Amino acid sequence: MEDGLLRENIAGVLKRISNAAERAGRSPDTIRLIAVTKTVNRHVIKRAIAMGLKDFGENRVQEAQQKVMSDELRVRRDIITWHFIGHLQKNKARIAVNLFDMIQTVDSFELAELINKHAEDTGKTQHALIQVKLSKESAKTGILKENIRDIMVKLGSLRNVIIDGLMTMPPFFDDPEETRGYFNELRLLQKELESDGFSLPELSMGMTNDFEVAIQEGATMIRVGTALFGEREKR
Ligand SMILES: *Cc1c(COP(=O)(O)O)cnc(C)c1O
Repeated sequence: MEDGLLRENIAGVLKRISNAAERAGRSPDTIRLIAVTKTVNRHVIKRAIAMGLKDFGENRVQEAQQKVMSDELRVRRDIITWHFIGHLQKNKARIAVNLFDMIQTVDSFELAELINKHAEDTGKTQHALIQVKLSKESAKTGILKENIRDIMVKLGSLRNVIIDGLMTMPPFFDDPEETRGYFNELRLLQKELESDGFSLPELSMGMTNDFEVAIQEGATMIRVGTALFGEREKR
């Protein structure tokens, strides 16, 4: 990918963020851009870091490991934040704890327990989000809304995992307005849980096609791949 195009894409996304924030009466500083780099090679990631991006998302542990631990990127771990955004298999939890600053896809208490154990072993406090399954049509993984409160209570006993908020991945619609209801539902769930005394400031929602709507509905993290790095090849 050409430097000029990457620079242009980044500027375009930042402009979209600031426009959407302005329309929503929010400061653009309250929205973190997570650059989704699945299928993107480490040389491009290195250039994106040089152009100012700080948060990166990967959805496969093995692929991420090759990038995070590469000579080019390993030395930059202090200045950037790696987010795991894919389905995390239990047998990969240990590596994920080693690689990622934030695991956005905690979808069961058992997984959280494993993450906690591995974090404890390495003396780390692992930041994480709960992945919420809002409806039958939405992503296959995630915790059902009605089960979240019970799990939040149990999670309180895990000392090495901090749950910072909620993440969701609605089904894809061509018309981004159709995702608004899902984003709004996640925001309301956050409010309910906060009124029960849980602190869940982060809402990770919105992708290339619909992040403006997500920002209007309160997203604090948007996960953007295509608008930054172009169309991905199917794999
Ligand atoms: C791929 C992916 C994204 C980014 O999708 P784009 O439409 O390319 O912006 C966001 N979130 C998750 C969980 C993903 O897997």
